[in-house]
Amino acid sequence: MLPASLSAYPSAILCLLLAASADPRPLRDIIKAFDIHQTPLLSNPLVNMPSDETVSTGVIISDVIGKTQAIAIFSGLTRDIDPVSGRLDDASQNATVLAPNNNAMKNLKRKPWEDPGDYNTFGAEAYKGQDGEDRAHKNLRRFVERHIVPESPWEEGKKFKTLDGNEVWWESKDGKKKIQPADVEVTSIADKVANGEVWVLDAITLVNMHYESGDLSICFTCGTQFDAPLSSPPKNCPICDDPRQYVPPTGQAWTSLNNEASTSSQRNEFITDPHDPRIHYITTTPTAPSKTNMPAGLSDATTITKQLGIGERAILLQTEHGNVLWDLVAWLDDGTKDFIKAKGGLKAIVISHPHFWTTHLEWARCFGCPVYLQECDKEWLQREDKNNVRTLVTQPTYTILPGVTLIRAGGHFPGSSFLHWSDKPSKPGKLFIADTMMSVPSGFYHADRLPGTTSFSFMWAYPNMIPLPPDAVLGIWKSIKDFDFEESYGGFMGQNVRRKDLKVKVLESAKIFLRRSGHEKAAIYEETV
Ligand SMILES: [Zn+2]
Ligand SMILES: [Zn+2]
Repeated sequence: MLPASLSAYPSAILCLLLAASADPRPLRDIIKAFDIHQTPLLSNPLVNMPSDETVSTGVIISDVIGKTQAIAIFSGLTRDIDPVSGRLDDASQNATVLAPNNNAMKNLKRKPWEDPGDYNTFGAEAYKGQDGEDRAHKNLRRFVERHIVPESPWEEGKKFKTLDGNEVWWESKDGKKKIQPADVEVTSIADKVANGEVWVLDAITLVNMHYESGDLSICFTCGTQFDAPLSSPPKNCPICDDPRQYVPPTGQAWTSLNNEASTSSQRNEFITDPHDPRIHYITTTPTAPSKTNMPAGLSDATTITKQLGIGERAILLQTEHGNVLWDLVAWLDDGTKDFIKAKGGLKAIVISHPHFWTTHLEWARCFGCPVYLQECDKEWLQREDKNNVRTLVTQPTYTILPGVTLIRAGGHFPGSSFLHWSDKPSKPGKLFIADTMMSVPSGFYHADRLPGTTSFSFMWAYPNMIPLPPDAVLGIWKSIKDFDFEESYGGFMGQNVRRKDLKVKVLESAKIFLRRSGHEKAAIYEETV
């Protein structure tokens, strides 16, 4: 704060000092502030309407924002949020404040301290007690930061991220200034001062912040759900931008579980294993014909519209100790909820690696069960676990239920995993392999007829065909060396292999894979079953 402004605006300074030194207002006082009577902007004598040339020098935003009664509700909130009030009070940091007027604030369907997710989790008491107050202030902060652009003067068309990370710009339309992408009109400029400007908006919708979790953006290619509404999706999907995935030639696309284009084009199918009625496969299938051709060799190289996600399957295991869902598809509709509930619900969701994490928080909420993921892959998480449903596993093996073991193998991802299910310790089990290794075409037929054929492949990137190095392949083998299994279940339909010597075929395949890659001296050649 400059000394000159101290004497020029003593009352504003006093208010600010009080605001800065006090705790944030209790929620009940904030709620009361919404009862303020709206004064029309133009007839309000306190409103300063500077011409485009007028800039009050030596005065800063915090000195003036509280004087405009038409935005009193919003300006009150800016003083509740320390990082915002600090910024507006700092002559060295410029900002453009996008202040919704009192009518816009009062007409909100949900108040700025409310989040539908909180009501889902905590019910009607979501904002009661100290925890409730804390939640309310967190939501308020996000709301206020959504309306502060850290730039002034702000040139037309120049894109900036608001303090909460949403990109906005403005353009002139029919002589009016409109904030984009929401197309919200700036009705006036209340102040132009040394460290920025206060623009008055007649609506709140800088972005649609009143969303349900079903409105959250889902990457169409991989099915990953993000903590950003579909109305303002992320810039890119880090999962698909990684060399282990891809963005299709048609480009990055987004949807949500509530999005009508998806609800009308996607559905899940349920297939029970013909050999074991306790195993059920859930896959997502599009219902509409394709308009584009996908590259050959990809899981979505079909003649129909791409399915949401990679094309993997979730596998429901009905064990004696409860149901486990291994891996996941992004799409979760009523038919799927009914199917799983009819089978007895879920005790646990366990997911092999980040490519299949998709919408796991939605599934966990729906079935009231925990989700098990590997801690070492957590950098790929895209949503905050507000309900504490994730268990991030750190042990090399982890018992999910009796007879059901998560095995960390690494390779494809550091935490890439198998799931081993054995009913009785005396019986060989079933190995669910996902992308940790992949059953290949000759494993279904030639493996029975000729020596030296291969049954599995070990890739770091399957769609982009980047192989794993010898130590990673050895690590995968060693992770399952002490487990017995005669059946393997891949991540996609048609990838099951059943044979007595399956474990032999895994080791044999690993040796063939490395020898053909030119690794003549790998340690795996010393291994035996
Ligand atoms: Zn993606
Ligand atoms: Zn994968």
